[in-house]
Amino acid sequence: MVAKIIDGRELAEKVLDKAKLDVAKLAPKPCLAIVLVGDNPASIVYTNKKHEACKKVGIESKNIKLPENSSESDVIAWIRKLNADNSVDGILVQVPLPGGIDEDRVLAEVAKEKDVDGFQPENFGKLALGLPGITPCTPKGVIRMLKESGVTLPGKHAVVMGRSRIVGKPLALLLLNENCTVSICHSRTKDVGAITRQADIVCVAVGKPKTLTADMVKEGTIVIDAGTNREGEKLVGDVDFDAVKEKASMITPVPGGVGPMTIAMLIENTVQCYKERRKAK
Ligand code: NAP
Repeated sequence: MVAKIIDGRELAEKVLDKAKLDVAKLAPKPCLAIVLVGDNPASIVYTNKKHEACKKVGIESKNIKLPENSSESDVIAWIRKLNADNSVDGILVQVPLPGGIDEDRVLAEVAKEKDVDGFQPENFGKLALGLPGITPCTPKGVIRMLKESGVTLPGKHAVVMGRSRIVGKPLALLLLNENCTVSICHSRTKDVGAITRQADIVCVAVGKPKTLTADMVKEGTIVIDAGTNREGEKLVGDVDFDAVKEKASMITPVPGGVGPMTIAMLIENTVQCYKERRKAK
């Protein structure tokens, strides 16, 4: 079997086109503040892409760039200022934050109604309870890709590799909310392959190239690769793509898979925050 490639760019374009039409009807325009602390090259690339996507759909974006040596209280002071700024509809704090800054404490400061990433504890709690709210962008994008590709989720055995706050854990919760049977693997899991070989869907968010190899999947599995790793000039995922695509029924590429959908979901979440906060339709 050779897998169907799930085209994240094409799906993301559709989401952005719809958001653009939606935003055109709104006045004032939604405004997203993106807080970038330090000079992490990957974070600079990601935040630039997020600003570009805002521009494309007509959302205003504020670029809050803080120096690498900022203290936790400096960052929190900025967040409080943005929370109080009525012209700001969404706040995104680009992670990872530089060492010495406690991400949990910083993310907990984002006003829940402006939390476009869905990482604030109350919003994350709603996700865990299966209540409506703001859903973290990468996991939301993965579910959308699966559904748009015609995958029926209830009853499927989904295995998530990784349990981070930004991808693995919320993705496992979302899959559970979609009535999948969910297994979560992490760095302490013994014989990960024995678990992934039972999966109908494997989602990988580990941050190491070729973590999922062809011997770890059964014939016909659906494979979602959230990994983004630099190998020289090349961007690669966490899946041994060339080998796994020969066995999978569907697979996402890197680049051009989960990444563009993450940004599209951020735009959707910004519009959602705007509408809920301003009670707009
Ligand atoms: P992270 O915080 O470093 O978490 C990695 C997770 O993988 C941890 O839970 C770790 O377990 C687990 N792990 C490590 N080795 C493993 C193994 N052999 N088998 C199973 N699990 C293993 O990373 P992250 O922030 O979730 O990011 C993961 C990847 O996704 C990165 O490449 C990142 O760049 C990418 N990413 C992409 C997007 C996008 O928009 N496409 C967005 C966010 C992240 P422990 O918990 O036990 O340490």
